[in-house]
Amino acid sequence: MSNVRVYNDNKFEHREKFRGVQIFIPPGEYVEMNKEDAVLFKSQFTPIIRGKNGVDDPRGFKMIRIDFEPTTNVSVRDVVGEQELDLTCQACGFIAKTEPGLKVHIRTHATQMVDATAREAIENGI
Ligand SMILES: [Zn+2]
Repeated sequence: MSNVRVYNDNKFEHREKFRGVQIFIPPGEYVEMNKEDAVLFKSQFTPIIRGKNGVDDPRGFKMIRIDFEPTTNVSVRDVVGEQELDLTCQACGFIAKTEPGLKVHIRTHATQMVDATAREAIENGI
């Protein structure tokens, strides 16, 4: 059985234990799984995280999407010729493979920013 891509459509990282393994998907990125696992993983319940004010915390939102197009050993980025990079987040050491991926990731730090101008710049995608 070929693998499918499991995307995290949230702007926050997704971590979830599945079949005894900790699954980690950076924001906007994907992992590959076999089709059966992908469907089970998507439907697995994750608890809602409540913020201090009683509003659901978006960090807890499970925004998983499956791309059922079978994957090959050649990465999609190789096919389209997009340069694959190791871009390190200066705040936490997270490594993004693409510049848009890094920008999306950096937004997860926006709430930690003390300086309002810097925070707005990040929220607006710099
Ligand atoms: Zn970071």
